[in-house]
Amino acid sequence: MGRVVAAAAAVATCPECGVGCETFAKRRRIASIDGPVDVEESVAHCPGCRRDFFPPPADARP
Ligand SMILES: [Zn+2]
Repeated sequence: MGRVVAAAAAVATCPECGVGCETFAKRRRIASIDGPVDVEESVAHCPGCRRDFFPPPADARP
């Protein structure tokens, strides 16, 4: 059983309004050929737009 962690910045900029939003880890289980795998992905929530969005990986920044 494997585990994949997507590293992302702790604060992500909302693509809608540009406000810095906190990110949190969201875990979900996906099926792979080796069986179920828990994947932890970062999700950011903007309280202003009341929407969730996926922040870009931290290493993708200039
Ligand atoms: Zn926003």
